[in-house]
Amino acid sequence: MSGPSESAACRECGGCGYVVEQVLGQPARARRCACQATCRRCGGSGYVLIPTGASQVAQPCECRYLDERLALFSAVGIPAALAHASFESFKTWSPDHAAAKARAEDFARKFRHDQATKGFLLYGRPGAGKTHLLAAALRYLALEKRVPARYVEFMLLLSDIRTGFDSKRGHMEVLRPLIQVPVLAIDELGKERGTDWERCMLDELISRRFNSGLTTLFATNYFLYESENPVKEDPGRMVNTGSGRFAREAEFMTLEKRVGDRIFSRLNEMCTFLKLDPGHDSRKDRATAGSATGLWKG
Ligand SMILES: [Zn+2]
Ligand SMILES: [Zn+2]
Repeated sequence: MSGPSESAACRECGGCGYVVEQVLGQPARARRCACQATCRRCGGSGYVLIPTGASQVAQPCECRYLDERLALFSAVGIPAALAHASFESFKTWSPDHAAAKARAEDFARKFRHDQATKGFLLYGRPGAGKTHLLAAALRYLALEKRVPARYVEFMLLLSDIRTGFDSKRGHMEVLRPLIQVPVLAIDELGKERGTDWERCMLDELISRRFNSGLTTLFATNYFLYESENPVKEDPGRMVNTGSGRFAREAEFMTLEKRVGDRIFSRLNEMCTFLKLDPGHDSRKDRATAGSATGLWKG
């Protein structure tokens, strides 16, 4: 017997066999822990000999899967701030919040590579832990199930598509890996409304994924129904700049208005919608954020 479980005493990795590196501005990367430098099971060859009757047969050692899992995790593109985000480190503060987390975790645990699996869309105000849950799901898929996955932030995605279109590479070169990866998470959906052409690209991306039976996860700050938008209950807070007013008006929008009805109906087909509530008065957050950015007058 060897492998990660035997090294439970390792102080660096806690026994899991890998260490996640958190470098600001870079996507999270995982590397093999020093305690796993030379596999005690295979001596570093990557194969173990299994006796079968009179002879032996070489089988890949578990440690090969460790490297594969770590490479998959490092390829996800999880932001550095969420390098350690997992289901275990996700703090829940209400029954609804815990239920949404349970649904996301259930998705990751039951995910199967060989069949179409409906994804989820997390929505709610900033500070509810949406990106944490996305990162936790992708981490689980890569590290526990060896499923290739990617995390993209919506605005960066749009700018990549624009850059791809402007350059000789073409936008398909940007989109292709995202069209093909088994699980794609798009964060901050709707943050930028985008041009009609950009919406068209987004529609193409998610439609192709849907038609190929691939799973897409989303997170958005926008609400599904006007009745869910807390901004409406606080009409006294005024903005003092044109851009601030614009930002405020934009906050009133539902997701459907932000992304357009075509994409919204596609989201309905592809995803279970999960609302994540912040655990406190989100209006206080906005007031604090406003004093930092100068957008809001209190
Ligand atoms: Zn270790
Ligand atoms: Zn080994």
